[in-house]
Amino acid sequence: MNAPEFDTKYILTDCLCCAILSHQYILEGGVPFLSEIKSTSFAEDAESLGFIVFMQVAAMFGDQKGGVVEKPDPRAGGDIVVVKIHAVPMCTEYKGFIHGGTGEHFGHEAAGEVVEVAQPGRIQVGDRVVVQPQNACGECQMCAIGEHIHCRRGRRSSIRDLIDGEVASATYAQYMHKMEDLLCLIPEGVSYEHGGMACCGLGPTFGAMEQMQVNSLDTVMVTGLGPVGLGGIINAHYRGARVIGVESHPYRAELAKKLGAKVVLDPNDEDILDQIRDLTDGVGIDKAVDCSGASAAHRLMVDAARSKGQVTFVGEGGEFPLAASRDMIRKGLVLRGNWHYNLGVYPKLMQMIQNSPEQIDTFITHTFPMREVQKAWELQATGECGKVVLYPWE
Ligand SMILES: [Zn+2]
Ligand SMILES: [Zn+2]
Repeated sequence: MNAPEFDTKYILTDCLCCAILSHQYILEGGVPFLSEIKSTSFAEDAESLGFIVFMQVAAMFGDQKGGVVEKPDPRAGGDIVVVKIHAVPMCTEYKGFIHGGTGEHFGHEAAGEVVEVAQPGRIQVGDRVVVQPQNACGECQMCAIGEHIHCRRGRRSSIRDLIDGEVASATYAQYMHKMEDLLCLIPEGVSYEHGGMACCGLGPTFGAMEQMQVNSLDTVMVTGLGPVGLGGIINAHYRGARVIGVESHPYRAELAKKLGAKVVLDPNDEDILDQIRDLTDGVGIDKAVDCSGASAAHRLMVDAARSKGQVTFVGEGGEFPLAASRDMIRKGLVLRGNWHYNLGVYPKLMQMIQNSPEQIDTFITHTFPMREVQKAWELQATGECGKVVLYPWE
């Protein structure tokens, strides 16, 4: 059966024969294509008949308008596999939305199922996976020690040369391309939503706590309790530390307490440093993570840390004044930056996720079908949420 030539628009059925018989597909530029397809096997049948099948991806149209647009389904090539995305944790993309941004390429966090591979390898069709951010060479010193996030070489072979058509690297989408090296298996019994928290939700602060070896003897301060900082509360609490949060938004302060923060201080309080000293017998905090990126929070971490304490910068930010003698030498302070986490600790992170189902359900405050991405971005703009997850297939 060949794709016949009709010019009717839109297919809204999951049966290829019905679609063809009722002319429910689009012909554009002489090429038949299908859209609004929910079934993978149907899409494969249609592709084998010469149709171009379209997937949905989220888009910003400017003026704080969002929705979905269609793009061709990606196909595997070389070590680049196709992942059918089931859960999309939302990150800071909403900041572009607030400023009237436009585009059709959003997201760097996803969990899904591998639906196509082009060559035998570590990853098989049917594997449930967490999609790691970025691409990497897989060979340099950083990649060799699990620090793919710091790979400076990037991929040796262009993804474009390995696949047909456009590279699909957005995660606010029904499908995406990914190099198999950067897919981590989700253990049985862990949902896609929970698995997806191994991206920015829990990952960067897990990496920070690993580096500082946070434990039950520590008082840990987390500044900036957005979707990353709230994950920091979960991480520090899981390790048995006493957790002090710093956040001015009442919704987030309340949520942080539900997730294990002993106390949440308001960064606008002029005496915040005194409050921290009172909470720590005048000594200061042992370890701190900033997730706000605000220079004032960076300064607060340095000032609130005890002598020989440790602070880690996770939230992206600008410059802030630091005095070599006062802040570092005479204080013996350890300052670190942490972007993501070493892939070698992924099993430990997944173990924490498996052991904390209720907390993660509390952390994920809202879910939306991807076609309602505008509502999701509007919600994020209010700050009245924890982690928000999109479903591309609802
Ligand atoms: Zn590398
Ligand atoms: Zn993120």
